Amino acid sequence: MARFTRVFAVPKPRVDFLRGMRFRLMVSFVIFFTILLVVIGLVFHKTLQLETERDVRDALDEEWFEAKGYLKIEKQRPVWVADETDPEDNFIVSRLKHIYLITDANGNALQYDDTYESIGLDSLDDIRRVLALPGPETRIRWSRDGTPYLVKAGKILDEDSRQPYFLAIGRSLAPARKTVSDFTRNYFYILPAMIALSGLLGWVLAGRAIQPVNSVAQAAQTITGSNLSLQIPLRGAGDELDRLIESFNKMTARLNQSFEQIRRFSTDVSHELRTPLTAIRGQLEVALFTAETPDQYREAMLNALEDVEKLSSIVRALLLLSQAESGQLVLQKSPLDLAVLARDVVDQFQIPAEEKDVLLTADLDGPAVISADHTQIERLLSNLLSNAIKYTPRGGSVRVRIGPGDGPGWAQIVVEDTGVGIPAENLPHIFDRFYRVRNAQTESVTGLGLGLSFVAWIVEVHGGRIDVASTEGEGTRFTVLLPAEPSPVAAPETQAVA
Ligand code: ADP
Repeated sequence: MARFTRVFAVPKPRVDFLRGMRFRLMVSFVIFFTILLVVIGLVFHKTLQLETERDVRDALDEEWFEAKGYLKIEKQRPVWVADETDPEDNFIVSRLKHIYLITDANGNALQYDDTYESIGLDSLDDIRRVLALPGPETRIRWSRDGTPYLVKAGKILDEDSRQPYFLAIGRSLAPARKTVSDFTRNYFYILPAMIALSGLLGWVLAGRAIQPVNSVAQAAQTITGSNLSLQIPLRGAGDELDRLIESFNKMTARLNQSFEQIRRFSTDVSHELRTPLTAIRGQLEVALFTAETPDQYREAMLNALEDVEKLSSIVRALLLLSQAESGQLVLQKSPLDLAVLARDVVDQFQIPAEEKDVLLTADLDGPAVISADHTQIERLLSNLLSNAIKYTPRGGSVRVRIGPGDGPGWAQIVVEDTGVGIPAENLPHIFDRFYRVRNAQTESVTGLGLGLSFVAWIVEVHGGRIDVASTEGEGTRFTVLLPAEPSPVAAPETQAVA
């Protein structure tokens, strides 16, 4: 069974939690902090290790010099020279003898202590190697139970025979290593807690960052086709989001303008069509109910036909205008001499002008070559000329001038008349669709109010501009500027058509 449901309520957009920006920002935050904290931990670990070992090494160096001062080899026997009565001397010597080994050059151990024994007495090869070195050597060695020791070994000389003897003293690295490992363990114990905290912080910060986006989205949802004039308020932060809101507002303003145009257009069209339709209906009713003679029927029919004609011309003009504005009317641009075209159009309008007793003249200061659609420019000229003749009373005059514009690169069309003129308050609207000035002077003139809409569109699509200057009761001047086609300069020619 086929089914169809039309939903009118605007569904609230659902955001997948895991794909939401807030979640993703938080995850990035956590990843960043984890890497940062681990790197900081490793750097601290290494620095602390180096620092504590350097302290042990410095202390060992000091002891080495003390040992060389307190230890003498006399008659092939090591003797510790200390003042028995001096407690400090005794303390130093007992400390030096804490981890130590003395051998002769053949590796025979002369003195050592238990701790050194647990590290392992040096082999003969090692002793010979150290004795051959120019200075003492420091190495890390491990006792049998795995405790690390820093051992400094070198030679001391028998005072009399100058024979070399091997001396090694050591210091435990265990306390230093313990400090480092305690720090590292504690640091990595609290690391998960710090990461969790960074996640929480990331969640809160991301929430704050996203909040304006959510409120903009909510505000945007309240905008519908019927209230497109609503604008999202700017936050005043001057940030990217404000720029986005600004662009969004501009877009809705443009949409609003288009919607407004469409609304006005539908109202105008229905209004314009209703008038002739009512007239036709009236005439047909008259024919049906009151006409008796064939002549009366005939007259009613003729009147109705006239209104039908008006209706079709409105529909034709509307169709053309809508085609033009929706971009369906493709322009066929080609080089066009305005002077030649104007001469033809002025010729066509001579008879209607004469019938109205209006003097139509043309100053063709040509050639004025432009790249344009021939049909459209002809329509532009015809509309301006027919208006000028329509709105100029008997005895008046209309003048067409073609020539270069004020600046280089422009061609100019001027149509001026000595007609009824346009009141200043109506001027800004005359290019609107169906707009007609309704006053005593224009009452008797028929028209649809579409001619100048066409003119404006044609000027726009050719990249030109149109100016209108008018004085009520004196006349009107339309000036159209169109981009000229670069062409070899020709001698200006003036021609008047009477
Ligand atoms: P219409 O079919 O009424 O002439 P247009 O769009 O051509 O429609 O012109 C709009 C209005 O502008 C006209 O109704 C008229 O009032 C005014 N207008 C246009 N051209 C002239 C002119 N040359 N002199 C005086 N008024 C003019």
